[in-house]
Amino acid sequence: MTTAVLKVDRLCKFFGGVRAVNDLSFEVRQGEILGLIGPNGSGKSTTVNALAGIYPVTSGEILLAGGHIQGLPEYERVAMGLARTFQTASIFPEFTVREQVTLGCNATLQSHPLSSVFGIGRHPGEDEAVAARVADILEITALDAVADAPVGTITAAQQRFLMIATALASEPKVILLDEPAAGLVSHERRTLIDLIVAIRDKGISVLVIEHHMALIMEVCDRIVVLNFGSMIAEGTPEEIRNDKAVIDAYLGEAA
Ligand code: ADP
Ligand code: MG
Repeated sequence: MTTAVLKVDRLCKFFGGVRAVNDLSFEVRQGEILGLIGPNGSGKSTTVNALAGIYPVTSGEILLAGGHIQGLPEYERVAMGLARTFQTASIFPEFTVREQVTLGCNATLQSHPLSSVFGIGRHPGEDEAVAARVADILEITALDAVADAPVGTITAAQQRFLMIATALASEPKVILLDEPAAGLVSHERRTLIDLIVAIRDKGISVLVIEHHMALIMEVCDRIVVLNFGSMIAEGTPEEIRNDKAVIDAYLGEAA
C-alpha cells in the first residue's frame, strides 16, 4: 500500500490568459523520488511555486499528509512538512555552514532560532539533539568537511548543497527541488544523486524538477511529464523513455 504525502488535485494556475498549469493531478507517495519533467515553459516551476505557496492558485486542491494546504502561507506549509530550496544562499554569509543549518533546525524548536548561535534562551536537552541532527545533515549533504567554514567562502556547488541541507533542517515530509543540478559539473551531479537517494532513504519524499535527463532517469522512482501545463504521461523511467507522447513533446525542443 502506498500513501500520498503530497496530493495535487485538478490544479490550475493561470497568469492572465496564460494557462501555466491546467487541470493537473498527481501525487508524491511516501518514500519516493518523483520527477517532474517537461519542455521549457510547460509549467514545472509554476507547479512547484504553487505547492510551496509562493502565489495563490487559480483553482484546485493541494493536500499535505491528507490536510488541505492551498491558501496557507509558505511558512505554515514549511512547518507542516513541506520544504523547498531557495535561490538566495544565506542571510548571514559570515555564519559557518554548521551555524546556518543549526538556524534551520532551531526554526522548528521551542527555543529562539538564534539561541544556539548566541547561547541565550535555550530549552534543556534541545542542544544535543539539534547538534546530532545537524551533524547527520552535514554528512549526507557532503558538507562535513566545510562545516566550520563561513558560508560566504564555500563553492557554488557547496552553496547549493547547503540550501538542501537547510531545507532538510526543517524536518520535512517532502522536499521540493527545482533544477538542483543546474550549473553542477559531473562529479557534483554524482554527489547530488547520492544525496537525493539518501534523502529518500531517510523516509523523506522528494519532488525533483530537472533538465538533466540522465540524472532524472537514474534517480527517480516515477516521473510525471508536463506539456503546456497538463500531464501527458506518468510512469517509471523505463515507461517514460518509451512513451510516444513524451518523445513527441521533446522532439520540438533542441535535444
Ligand atoms: P517551466 O518551469 O516548465 O519552464 P514555468 O512554470 O516557468 O515553466 O512557466 C509556464 C508558463 O507560465 C510559461 O508560459 C511562462 O511564461 C508562464 N509564467 C510563469 N510564471 C509567470 C508569471 N509570474 N507571470 C506570467 N507568466 C508566467
Ligand atoms: Mg522552470
